[in-house]
Formats: sequence, structure tokens, C-alpha cells
Amino acid sequence: MTLKVSKRRPLVAQSEIRNMTLECARVSGVNLAQGVCDLPVPDVVIKGAEEAMKAGTNIYTRFDGLPRFREAIAAKQKRYTGMDVNPENQVVSSAGATGAFYAACLALLNEGDEVIVFEPYYGYHIVTMASLGIKPVSIILEPPNWEFTAEDLEQAVTSKTRAMILNTPSNPAGKVFSRKELELIADFAESHDIFVFTDEIYEHFVFDGHEHISPATISGMARRTITISGLSKVFAITGWRLGYAICDPEWALPIGHFSDLVYICAPAPLQIGAARGLEELGPEYYQGISDDHQMKRDMFCDTLRDIGLTPHVPDGAYYTLADVTSLPGKTAKERALHLLEKTGVACVPGSAFYSGPVGETLVRFCFAKEMDALEDAMNRLRGLG
Ligand code: PLP
Repeated sequence: MTLKVSKRRPLVAQSEIRNMTLECARVSGVNLAQGVCDLPVPDVVIKGAEEAMKAGTNIYTRFDGLPRFREAIAAKQKRYTGMDVNPENQVVSSAGATGAFYAACLALLNEGDEVIVFEPYYGYHIVTMASLGIKPVSIILEPPNWEFTAEDLEQAVTSKTRAMILNTPSNPAGKVFSRKELELIADFAESHDIFVFTDEIYEHFVFDGHEHISPATISGMARRTITISGLSKVFAITGWRLGYAICDPEWALPIGHFSDLVYICAPAPLQIGAARGLEELGPEYYQGISDDHQMKRDMFCDTLRDIGLTPHVPDGAYYTLADVTSLPGKTAKERALHLLEKTGVACVPGSAFYSGPVGETLVRFCFAKEMDALEDAMNRLRGLG
């Protein structure tokens, strides 16, 4: 028998989030490992999708999405970032931000290219690129400040560098890139003439007066930036698979065609539900969820301190990395499993976000849970202290 799986198979075989979720189920624990937000879906979003299904919006859409969805995305981008976006040729709707990122890699990068990423990274970025033969080159950011310099950027570049990835606010560190950092990146990207892929899926969740700045709005960045985001987090619809890329028309068309190749289009009636949400929910809606996340962040980080773990308090998104070197074990995985055994709370070992030793000192918790579940988790954790 000569049949066998592809050489890519090992890249997707071992997901620590999947592993910890299984371990969590085994002990009937509280799962703070998965980045799934339990909050309710806004009524208007559900109603919009329901009405669209009944009205017959159930067939394939144009490869880049329904006009109404693209228009709602462009209007939202103008409202919250000031970007002028033409919905006709600069917006590609996709099966989640994940679909947009994959399509952008297929459309704009080649096997053998190098792409600069910051660690801690979002694993899907790394594995997606690796599965396409693209080599991620890391700049390691360390707690508590997650800082980098112009020299760090220069050291990562080679003649094969074609792009860099920015995730702001970031998963898992909750880092919100400042204007100064983005200007540094803009100068760097311009001088080496590379693309910048941004992942802004947590754009509305920023705390303590921090501001989310869309990298494409920085001078010199508009043409080289592929702005990627989605509705999974902000409308708590991770299962609907709705995201998008916004970019120069020259890149939007090939991204749209690869998006078509992989899944044809984003789910048609759900595009209408999300469009309704974008059209009808105002800034107070987004601020409300962000405030809720911030309140939960504070409670959760206090709990971690009470039991002797050191949280690296995030400025955005809805995760916290915590220093777990006080727990028994040599690796982050052993420490995460110890915590699960003792408390029934599942987290993700930091080794899922770092290629080197820094990750072994950290674990990630997701605090975007309904209050009951979060309180249950916090009570269980206090049992450790
Ligand atoms: N990007 C980041 C940084 C994420 O953390 C996640 C989910 O956890 C995603 C993308 C996935 O987004 P989507 O559901 O739109 O594919």
C-alpha cells in the first residue's frame, strides 16, 4: 500500500488548545483554554439572518460577498478607523478572518518566502504559512512590556522577506500596538517594500483608554496593508464563519479568487445578519462589550494574583498570559495539566505561542465567559491558594 497522508499532516496534528479542551472534558472542568466568547448574539444579527433565509438568500453569493455586507463593512471601517474603502473592489468577505488570511497567503505569497511574525503568535498564522511552504521568522516579545526595536526588525529581514504579520490587539498577549510602533513598522515595511498582513479581529476590545489604530491608516501603509478582521468575536458568532479582508483593489481581486477556490463564498444569509448588526449597532454596543471584558479581566487577574500566579494584564483582546513558574513542573504543559488536575480549570500552555523557552513559563486563560462560568473558574482557582 503506497497511500499515505501529506507531509503537511504533522503541522496540524498537535493543537494544544484541542488537547487541553479534551483534557478539560475528561475532568468536567471549566474550559478557559478555548478563545470562544459565551456572550449572547445581538438580536438584530439573528433576526437579520433568519429573515434573509426566509426571503431566499440561500444561494452562492458573488465570490467577494453580497453588496450589502461589503457596504456595511466599508461603512464600519470609515466610522471606526477613518479609512476610505470602496466596497465594490476593496472588500472581500470570507469564511472568518481565518479564511481571509489563508486566501491572502495563497494570493500574495510564494513557497520559500519569509514572513516576519511577533512571538507570542497566534498559532493559525504560523501553521497556515508553514503548510504553504512559507517560512515564519520570529521577533520575540517578552513580558511584561512586549517591546521591540528598529534593530529587531532589521535583524529579522533577509532577501526572502515578503511580508510581516501584525495582530493588534494581540492574541495571546493583549498587546495593542501604539502609533509610534506602527510608524516604526511603516518605515521598515516601506524601506524593504514588503506587505503587512494585519489581524484586527479584537479591534473593538481595548482597555484603560488604549486606542486601536488600524495599521493601514498610518502614512505609507495603505497600499501594502491587507487588513483582516471578522465578526466572530464582536457578535459572538464564531460558528458563523464570517470575516473579511480590506485592501487595494490590485490585491483584493486575487484574494477574492482564492477565497472562491477554497469555499466559494461566506454563508449567504449570515452575511445579511452580520450586515444588519454592523448597520444598526452603534458605538455604545462595542463599548459595552469592551467594558464587560475589562471588568472580567480585572476580576480574573486579581484572582490569579491571590493564588500566587503573576498575570501579564492585557491592554486588549480577551486573554491573559500568566507566569506559572511557581507551579510544579518543568514545562508549561506540565504546569497547565497540574492546574487542571488541582482546580478543574483548563488553560493553554505558553509553548503554543512561542517557539522557544519563554513560552514554558506562561499559560493563557480566556476570560470572555458568562459571569457564572467565570465565577466558577475563579472559585476553583482559589482552591489552589
Ligand atoms: N485571529 C485571531 C488572532 C484569533 O485569536 C482568532 C480566534 O481565536 C481568529 C483570528 C479566528 O477568527 P475567525 O473566527 O474570524 O476565523
